[in-house]
Order: sequence, then structure tokens, then C-alpha cells
Amino acid sequence: MSIQIKNVSKKFGSFQALQDISLHIQSGELVALLGPSGSGKTSLLRVIAGLETSDVGEILFDDQAITDRHPKERNVGFVFQHYALFRHMTVFDNVAYGLKVRPRKTRPSKSEIKEKVMELLRLVKLENFAERLPTQLSGGQRQRVALARALAVEPKVLLLDEPFGALDAKVRKELRRWLRKLHDDFHITSIFVTHDQEEALDVADRIVVMNNGQIEQIGSPDEVYTNPKSPFVYDFLGNVNIFKGRLHNGKLTHGEFAIDVPDSHAHTQDDAIGYVRPHDIQIEKTAVTGTVPVKISHIHLLGPIVQIELRHEDIDEFLEAELSKEQYHLLQLKVGDQVFVKPKQLKVFIPEEYSI
Ligand code: ATP
Repeated sequence: MSIQIKNVSKKFGSFQALQDISLHIQSGELVALLGPSGSGKTSLLRVIAGLETSDVGEILFDDQAITDRHPKERNVGFVFQHYALFRHMTVFDNVAYGLKVRPRKTRPSKSEIKEKVMELLRLVKLENFAERLPTQLSGGQRQRVALARALAVEPKVLLLDEPFGALDAKVRKELRRWLRKLHDDFHITSIFVTHDQEEALDVADRIVVMNNGQIEQIGSPDEVYTNPKSPFVYDFLGNVNIFKGRLHNGKLTHGEFAIDVPDSHAHTQDDAIGYVRPHDIQIEKTAVTGTVPVKISHIHLLGPIVQIELRHEDIDEFLEAELSKEQYHLLQLKVGDQVFVKPKQLKVFIPEEYSI
């Protein structure tokens, strides 16, 4: 089922929670709504589910307007951050619930329900937990029950609101891989809300980056990570070095610190801000064209990755570079060394255009 969101806006009192949101989600896509707290992710999800009505705009499922339809008539499965399981019901009854409360005409028989529920519990690897109560499960197991329960009614759209937000990092990682696999097996159009950029990059087909009730950028994980359209997206999607300076003669300059800028800004003269990801900083032992001398102030060994802090007296902040362990050993770096750096990829923004 495809989903079209057309010019949706929503106010709570005088607060604009969603502002002119338009988005087309293909049938079978897994889309992440990513943004900081309060950016409108949950509000948008609730409008799609019909739990909230928009002030203006339209929602279409497979080209049919469903804006005025009751949540129950939208064929949507919902999974929340806080398990929302019925505490007094067993795992089996929780998963069976949506099928048991169907109108008599469409309700499956008892044996059909049993077969279906056990099939889903096998899928979420909880077939031996059918008779347990939610309180007798771990957080990760409860979330798997919540997913099985949402899937039981065979929804055409699956909406997940920070589904793994309350779990520890290791379980989160395991469950998000597992969500991806489940999605690939079932091909249900799915939208999940997260404020965790790593989770969105790891799992989603496309990421919708939200800020202040608006969409900042829509794209594949690779697009939004490597080609952010705004400083906000750059900052939100991972570590970044920021240089403030002046564009002049094809360089971004701050005192003696001067780096080459992309051709698109070769003739601009303006105050500007350059963004470089730590893994896009090239480190050389000797000066080559376009490099700037800096000093290594710290080295952090983080498993397979090594973070190098670099200082230059004309910039206040230190720069952070990231190397693989192999590169690090090859270069034989140590604290106090002078090295030469240049950005492999630099993105330049003019502050006036972005209100930074
Ligand atoms: P979080 O990650 O913290 O859940 P979010 O991006 O999902 O944030 P929303 O929950 O959509 O953000 O909220 C967007 C804004 O709308 C917030 O400032 C919130 O306080 C406000 N808001 C949401 N629901 C209501 C409501 N029912 N009444 C008043 N304000 C609301």
C-alpha cells in the first residue's frame, strides 16, 4: 500500500507541530522519520494512523483519500515505545487480541486463531513463551510480542513509534536488524519514528529528516549522510567538524588556516561555514598541495576506529579525524606530532541562507 501525505499541517493551540508536510511513500518501503525531540515525528505518525486529525491536508492510501476515516478503518498496525501490552493477558492472548475482537463475520475460528498466533510467535522466536505474562518477559521480548500483535491483523501499513527506544543498545541493534528482516519477508509499507540517526541509517530504505514540524530532507541513508542539504541535517546525522571563516580566492580562510573549497564556491566572497566529517579528513606526514599543518593533541583508540584530535592555533575548536586502525598504524602517529591535513570532502554553507 502506498501512502501519500499532501500538505499536512497541524497546530496544538497556537503551536505549529506540523507545517505543510508532503511525502510519498512507495508500497513496501521502510521509511524512518528522524529528528530531534519535538520535531513532529510522532504527530505525523498519529495523523497517518488517524489518532490525530490534521488541520489541513490530505492522506491517501493507494490513491484513496482516507483523511476522514477512523483509525480502525485504515488497516494500520501500531507499535509504541512502551510496549502497551495487556498486562493481565498471556503472550498468546495479547497476540490473538486483534483477531478475537473482530466482528463475527470476519472473525477467524478458534483453531485458525491458534494456528496464526503460533505462526507469529515462531516468527518472533517466542513460541515457547505463549503462556507467559508480559511481566515475565525482558524488554526486547515484550517488543517482539508487540510486533507480533501488530502483525496478527495483517495490516497494510505498519507504524512504529520509537519501537526500541526503551531498550539497551545491544538489544536495540539486534531488534532493528530483525525488524529489517521481518520487513523484507512481509513487504508491509512501514514507517518508524526514531531520534537515533544510527538506527535510521542502518534500517531504513529512506530517511525523512524532520525539524520544527517541517521536512528538512528526504533521501536514502547514503544521500542524507553524504550529501546533507542543510547544516541541520549535517549536524544531526553524525559527527562533523565545523570551520567558520571567509571565502576568498577558492579557499575558506580563518587566519593562517585555509582550506580549498569545492568549485561551486570558487568565486564566492562571503562569510561561510565549512562542514567535514571526521572520516573525510586526510592526514599526511609531510605537506602536500592543499594541506594545512596541525598538531595532534589527543588520540582515542576506539576498537577498530581511531579518533585523532588536531589543533591549529587560528581555530578555537579542535578538529576530529577518524582513521581505521590499519591507517593509524601505517602513519605511526603520536600525540605532539605535526601532521598535514586537508578535507577529502567539504560542504560549504553561507550562514545568511540557512540562519545558522
Ligand atoms: P519526541 O521524539 O520527543 O517524541 P516528536 O518529534 O515525536 O518528539 P511530537 O511528539 O510530534 O514530536 O511533538 C511535536 C510538538 O507538538 C512538541 O512540541 C509537542 O509538545 C507538541 N504536541 C504534541 N502533541 C501535543 C498535544 N496533544 N497537545 C499539545 N502539544 C502537543
